[in-house]
Amino acid sequence: MVLRTKPRVLVIDDDEVARESAEVLLTRWGYEVTLAVSGEQGLESIKADPPDLVLVDLAMPGISGQEVLAAVQEYDPAIICIMVTGHATLQAAIDAMKNGAYDFLPKPFSPDELRRAVVRGFEHRFLELETKELREEKARMEANFVTMVTHQMRSPLSAVRQLMEVVINQSLGPMEEAYREIIERAVVRLDDLLGTINAWLAMSRIAESGVAERREPVTLASIIDTLAQRTKLDTDTAGQSLVVEDFDRDQLVKVDSESLLEALYNITSNAVKYNRPGGEVRITCRTSPGWLDLAISDQGPGIPEAEQDYIFDDFFRSKSPELKKKPGTGLGLSIARRVVRAHGGEIQVKSQPAEGTTFVISIPTS
Ligand code: ADP
Repeated sequence: MVLRTKPRVLVIDDDEVARESAEVLLTRWGYEVTLAVSGEQGLESIKADPPDLVLVDLAMPGISGQEVLAAVQEYDPAIICIMVTGHATLQAAIDAMKNGAYDFLPKPFSPDELRRAVVRGFEHRFLELETKELREEKARMEANFVTMVTHQMRSPLSAVRQLMEVVINQSLGPMEEAYREIIERAVVRLDDLLGTINAWLAMSRIAESGVAERREPVTLASIIDTLAQRTKLDTDTAGQSLVVEDFDRDQLVKVDSESLLEALYNITSNAVKYNRPGGEVRITCRTSPGWLDLAISDQGPGIPEAEQDYIFDDFFRSKSPELKKKPGTGLGLSIARRVVRAHGGEIQVKSQPAEGTTFVISIPTS
């Protein structure tokens, strides 16, 4: 329910009789009523416990009704303001409406006129709040839609992948070579898709979970050793070499190890993937007071300057046919940058065509 069970009206009027008669009527109709004798008191009351609707007298000593109206609009435009005045002029009504008043009630008014204005005001507020809620709900659904669909797709696709494995292994009997090749090609495509799905889910996990809150002090050695172990498997398989320059093993860094390692591995695995045959991947750590700079270099083809601005965007992949041939999701660097930024750091790329690429990750150590 958008409105509280007992809708609240604040009456701001310096005229005691007007205040009290409004209170009697509104209470009888089931509203919870608060009274204020001046614009100043009214604004205080609004800030202390915002009402749903304000009946405000236009001509009061001190802060005028128009000023109250402007202040309410600034504070919360969803609060309905009905202007009340004994000296109704067309200009005053126009000004009040311009300032965001919902309605204008010239004095003297009958109980019925008051009731109609208040009921209309509440109907309007209800619709406005409902629309706002629906809009927010729609935005939430849109934001989560891809993640929801992606999540739903993962299990059936993994099941299909396993069933295809049975066919490729010919567990149920021999199969013609031509069929086997087709199924193998299908498995490669399926693996690409599963890779994208897993990367997307990893990214939405990072977006949702509090990376910053999970930071805790660990030694630099615990991060770099794990990264080096994972990367070494890749460089060995690719016939490349991995060099980890000496670093201060005891240096403490306050990080969320799991997400940071995922980010760093995205970069080292790219370095291996895009490296020249037999090339070298180099990891360098430098610390300055309060900061850690971690550089990961390769000897690959480099990244064209025109593409450097886009490589961290979701799903960006190089336009170069040579690089596009390599499997990938276009999400690795985007995930890496999110993680690094969640650590309060930044990530930069330096690249010379034909000479290689260096990614520098800078994060605060505490
Ligand atoms: P992908 O899954 O395509 O590798 P990434 O987000 O990790 O996605 O990288 C985006 C793009 O940046 C890659 O497709 C590639 O064009 C370029 N790129 C990233 N790292 C390197 C690198 N070390 N050398 C050359 N190009 C790179």
